[in-house]
Amino acid sequence: MTQTSGERFNLGEELNLIPQAMYFVAVIAFLGIEALFILVVFRQHPHPPALILQILVAALPGSVLGFLLLLVGYVNRDAKRRGMNYMMWTFLVLFIPNAIGYIIYFLLRQPIVGKCPQCAAPTNPSFNFCSKCKFNLHPACPQCHRAIELGAVFCPYCSADLKGIAPASQI
Ligand SMILES: [Zn+2]
Ligand SMILES: [Zn+2]
Repeated sequence: MTQTSGERFNLGEELNLIPQAMYFVAVIAFLGIEALFILVVFRQHPHPPALILQILVAALPGSVLGFLLLLVGYVNRDAKRRGMNYMMWTFLVLFIPNAIGYIIYFLLRQPIVGKCPQCAAPTNPSFNFCSKCKFNLHPACPQCHRAIELGAVFCPYCSADLKGIAPASQI
């Protein structure tokens, strides 16, 4: 995999991000478009083409709709892991016409920079805790409240005992 600004792209991992229910919704939408074309649109045609052609013609808008629905699921989960306002972005990509919402999303989305030291989930510099395992990403000394490094045993500022406060990386 190529490394671009600390973010590697793994298609399988990205596809896994889409909730399974969304795959189901996309298939239903695809079949719905097929049914709409075959049972309604072509019925009104004076000389309807062969059924196989009707299926193929309807497959185009059906695939586009299914693909856009999968992208909605992707944007929802991707925005969440990037610490963005995922409800707002899901709403925007759904309702801004002509897929312009998706273009804006992919231009503006925040980078994933870093991984949780405990479970390797993607993290963002603004996160205080890992969204998957609640690992404390910015531990502070309980006595003087200054930021301390992961793995520190004693606070370098006030010498407080930090055992268990900032566990070192476990992966
Ligand atoms: Zn974690
Ligand atoms: Zn301290």
